[in-house]
Amino acid sequence: MSFLQDTRIKFITNPLFKMLKSKGLLPKISDTEKTALRAGGVWIEGELFSGKPDFTKIFSNPYPTLSLEEQAFLDNEVEALCAMTNDWDVFQKRELPKKVWKFIKERRFLGMIIPKEYGGLGFSAYGHSCVIEKLATRSQVLAITVMVPNSLGPAELLHNYGLEKQKEYFLPRLADGREIPCFALTEPEAGSDAASIQSYGEIFKDDDGEVKIKLQFEKRYITLSAISTLIGLAFVLKDPKNILGRGKELGITCALVNAKSEGVDQSRRHDPLGVPFVNAPLIGKDVIISIEDIIGGDSGIGEGWKMLMESLAVGRGISLPSTSTGGTKLATMVASTYSVVRYQFGISIGKFEGIAEVLGRMGADTYLLDASKTFTLGAIDSGAKPAVANAIMKYQSTEKFRKNILDAMDIQGGGAISKGPKNLLAHAYFGSPVAITVEGANIMTRTLILFGQGMIRCHPYAYNEIEALENEDIKAFDSALFAHIAHVFRNGFRASMLFFSRGYLHRTKGQGETRRYEQKLSWASAKFAFLSDVALGLMGADLKRRESVSGRFGDVLAQMYMMSATLKRFQMEGKKEDEVFLRVALEDGFNKIDHAFLGIYQNLASGVLAYPFTLLSYFSRLNPMGSVIKDRDLHEIAKLLGTDLAMRERICNNVYIGGKNEKMYQLIEAALALNDAKEIINKEKVEGIEALSKEEATQFKRVRKLQRKMIAVDSFTKEEYFR
Ligand SMILES: Cc1cc2nc3c(=O)[nH]c(=O)nc-3n(C[C@H](O)[C@H](O)[C@H](O)COP(=O)(O)OP(=O)(O)OC[C@H]3O[C@@H](n4cnc5c(N)ncnc54)[C@H](O)[C@@H]3O)c2cc1C
Repeated sequence: MSFLQDTRIKFITNPLFKMLKSKGLLPKISDTEKTALRAGGVWIEGELFSGKPDFTKIFSNPYPTLSLEEQAFLDNEVEALCAMTNDWDVFQKRELPKKVWKFIKERRFLGMIIPKEYGGLGFSAYGHSCVIEKLATRSQVLAITVMVPNSLGPAELLHNYGLEKQKEYFLPRLADGREIPCFALTEPEAGSDAASIQSYGEIFKDDDGEVKIKLQFEKRYITLSAISTLIGLAFVLKDPKNILGRGKELGITCALVNAKSEGVDQSRRHDPLGVPFVNAPLIGKDVIISIEDIIGGDSGIGEGWKMLMESLAVGRGISLPSTSTGGTKLATMVASTYSVVRYQFGISIGKFEGIAEVLGRMGADTYLLDASKTFTLGAIDSGAKPAVANAIMKYQSTEKFRKNILDAMDIQGGGAISKGPKNLLAHAYFGSPVAITVEGANIMTRTLILFGQGMIRCHPYAYNEIEALENEDIKAFDSALFAHIAHVFRNGFRASMLFFSRGYLHRTKGQGETRRYEQKLSWASAKFAFLSDVALGLMGADLKRRESVSGRFGDVLAQMYMMSATLKRFQMEGKKEDEVFLRVALEDGFNKIDHAFLGIYQNLASGVLAYPFTLLSYFSRLNPMGSVIKDRDLHEIAKLLGTDLAMRERICNNVYIGGKNEKMYQLIEAALALNDAKEIINKEKVEGIEALSKEEATQFKRVRKLQRKMIAVDSFTKEEYFR
């Protein structure tokens, strides 16, 4: 130790150390939380937390593309699966048809994440995501059914933690659908607080002296459970007689249970808002399994929580962002084509500014969401496990899906409200709250995980300080503390300089529009980093409980993250015509950041301490990062989506269109025909049908007929309706 550090420790660090410990002023972290915090790693979120993000480094991360094999699978198998699945019929019969199940199994849709050596498809996270995304544009039931076996469950757990003989036996069977898996964690008393599960297994010796486990479980909301053959079960393992010699409480453990085992009850079903994917309670009484059924065998005992947290830390960035991006693209595709086809007051509704405004926002959101999803998957595929980025994606994508599907329905009006085979939106709308609730319910994800855990994970010094305090390691605490103090001063200074220069003092290699956005993002990051340290100082251990403030920090982080991804997309695709999408998406993000910072200023402190923040909030209002999104930009996006087929197909790529008999195909065709016949329609409007030539009149009648067909809604006879 240097003389300086010695003196510092004696006069400053030691007294402070004692005070912090005695008053409990730093956030306490339970063991289950520690496991959650250690699961996954820190990716570019760390840069954004630093206050001085290195954009050259951020943008050097990959932006993935599909392999030839994945592309071929999308073009052939996925197209074929979508074509054979009629979503309306699925809802009527309340299950997927047998031929669909057969195709899913035969073509190994259930084994996308299983490596080829075990009979799976061995797809990248990006490839797997594109499959789920496209299925979601056809049928949410289809997407969920394929998604679940490819997310947290037996296959993933076996692949990462299974014994070789477990992998060799189960993975090929899971890949080709001989086994239908489910994963059972949630219980009546353990939803968001999953670590408090009460299902348990007791170690005992059977009549032959063999060591066995007797399980008692009561699970609910388990997807695929009623038809599953292989249950991935999370339970607390107990050894009351200490047969294994490791103590009585062995902790959360994951095991594979044959669904046909005696004592398993799969007889009941839930009804998740009428969306007919299989979701059910799952009960087990005195179900006997052996130690070999534990994932990882003997060494998997008590490791269940770690397995779950590590898997979720990655999985949150894949499954739900894929279904949600698919749903968002579907919404934008339907709304933008329908608004060309639907005429009111004599013109296509897309020309009304009110509609164009909504479409403009939807288009920009779709651009940003696709960028964020793709960028995140690129990180996962290159081996990163960006836990906070994945949680951001889970939260933001599902919220954006819910909002965009509602916007699309507002645009389609009665056509979106009337159920029937012609309705392309209603079933996706029913599915949107499901995505909000699962894999970490959204309110908790926003207010607890993004910043509460993000701060401890991604902050350059916070976790080291807490650890040093816990380990009573005064030297480590001193080093982290003084580095932290220097960090706060640096960021305070940097945030002020960037505030006064409106970000221009940030040096960047970026060009054109991206240059300016990069500067503003640096400004946002410096302010965020500085204020989060101030919040930590003011609230200490209370930071976790102050969820409203924490949620606002989470909002800032999420916006910075998605904007960085959107800039990356713009750089990679290099399309000048995308500038307007970029502009609206980023202005919207900066406005949300401004709004969140104002909320932080107004709520961070009370009493006398609140005065400086009130002052800061006045300055912030005078010098905001964002600006009003121009109507002109929103209208331009709406126009592009309505009239530029190539642009619409790029923004809403990977949406299932199908053949001539499909409603989506017909809608696009009708929009094209109406755009082509614009002048004829105008002429007829002004001069009457008599003024049209014979060819013009034929075209006019054809487009009117198409239009009429596209605006038709379903109706039912009384018998049909009551059936
Ligand atoms: C259709 C469907 C499918 C599912 N599939 C599966 C499956 O296959 N396997 C499985 O194991 N589970 C599954 N689940 C369970 C799902 O993961 C849980 O629903 C979820 O964890 C939330 O639990 P809960 O519904 O009991 O809500 P609760 O935990 O009761 O939460 C209620 C509300 O409180 C909020 N909240 C809770 N804690 C906090 C906090 N600390 N701070 C702020 N807000 C908080 C939540 O955000 C939520 O808004 C499924 C659920 C559904 C609905």
